Amino acid sequence: MTSHQSPRISIIGYGSQGRAHALNLRDSGFAVTIGLRPGGPTEIKAIADGFTVKSPALAARDAELVAVLVPDMVQPQLYRDVLEPNMAKGACLLFAHGFNVHYAQVHPRADLDVVLVAPKGPGALVRREYEIGRGVPSVYAVHQDVSGKAEQLALQYCAGIGGARQNAIRTSFKEETETDLFGEQAVLCGGATKLVQAGWETLVAAGYQPEVAYYECLHELKLIVDLFYEGGITRMHEFISETAQYGALTRGEYVIDDHTRAQMRKILAEIQDGSFARQWIAEYQNGNANYKALKQADLEHPIEAVGKRLRANMKWLSATAQASTPASQAEQAMA
Ligand code: NAD
Ligand code: MG
Repeated sequence: MTSHQSPRISIIGYGSQGRAHALNLRDSGFAVTIGLRPGGPTEIKAIADGFTVKSPALAARDAELVAVLVPDMVQPQLYRDVLEPNMAKGACLLFAHGFNVHYAQVHPRADLDVVLVAPKGPGALVRREYEIGRGVPSVYAVHQDVSGKAEQLALQYCAGIGGARQNAIRTSFKEETETDLFGEQAVLCGGATKLVQAGWETLVAAGYQPEVAYYECLHELKLIVDLFYEGGITRMHEFISETAQYGALTRGEYVIDDHTRAQMRKILAEIQDGSFARQWIAEYQNGNANYKALKQADLEHPIEAVGKRLRANMKWLSATAQASTPASQAEQAMA
């Protein structure tokens, strides 16, 4: 390996994280090449953004650091078929999620440094925050340190994507994987969507207007979450009425009760014992029928039609909706 002052980076995958990392790293002064399947769905985008695009094999061969930013379920085969035979001796293999290393779906070559840099936010936000001179907090970890510089490399990458050093927390592949899965399942994605849908359904079933229920149970959630983000639950209490506070303090526990807490422990146990990972891998390998059906049900939930109608009149939304299309990118990657 040459110097690690500014490693030549190849990014494999140009989706939600890939594009944001690539643009930020380039703006931070790194030499970045993109590795993509010729004719794949995001190739045009990477070329339009001015990057040199090579096949994943060629991109991997040249790089001192290879960032694996294709979907988690694609990574094991990509590693086996393309990265393992092509990566330079002593190079660094970087992941944005510990899933495949932690659950032993990828067994990195013994000569490679293996690190993790996981921004705690979606790709569009990683880019937007960088552009306005801020960053998304990140966690980083070292799985293999052959060069003695693995941590330094992870921190360089972390700073390059704008995960400001002062906010970077060192973790392990195990902790990142288990907490990330728990967060998205119990709270951020699974918990939040089911809470919103159930609240909306309750009001509509009781005869209230679906549009009013939409504002109450979905739209206003952003205002609350913005307060959490700025100043925690303390800040929410500073801004909501006394009536809202009293209701929240006495009724929140009706929803998040001992049963809910037991279910959260069950979610965590299935992550820790590997059963969630095995189920998801089997689902993917069997063609995702259940995943697709469950997702379709979410997309066809009646709250979606109501929201679409109401958001058509929220002129301020159209700019952001056009600027980022993470959902459609993810769908292309699945297809
Ligand atoms: P994505 O689905 O948005 O993008 C995947 C990219 O990989 C696309 O460019 C797609 O064309 C390409 N691709 C798909 N199959 C390929 C193949 N066989 N060979 C080469 N390229 C292929 O992915 P993402 O959501 O950015 O996830 C990438 C990694 O980042 C994952 O490990 C994920 O867990 C992690 N991560 C994602 C987020 C997020 O908000 N999306 C946040 C933190 C970490
Ligand atoms: Mg995740």
